Amino acid sequence: MQPYAMDLDDADIRRERQKARELRASQWWKRRCAKGVCYYCEQPTSPKELTMDHIVPISRGGRSTKGNVVPCCKECNNNKKQLLPMEWEEYLNEARKRSDISAD
Ligand SMILES: [Zn+2]
Repeated sequence: MQPYAMDLDDADIRRERQKARELRASQWWKRRCAKGVCYYCEQPTSPKELTMDHIVPISRGGRSTKGNVVPCCKECNNNKKQLLPMEWEEYLNEARKRSDISAD
């Protein structure tokens, strides 16, 4: 058992994963990735390197909707998995500070 897992049944999770696949194939998603920017750290990232991330994970009750999926770089995706929401906020603030500095 994961400590933060919600009481979701497998059918819900399968449905949301399927919806995510459909979104990933959509023109809407391709346009979002074409901008080439990670939603979280705001670093320029090649569209090919961007992955789909659920802001609220499916396992926490998040849905595969346009408001809940964002393109993010592999680094953010890897880091986010290991962090609690509050720690993730701190990581983001740091990442955005770095991106402000490099933008000057
Ligand atoms: Zn990123």
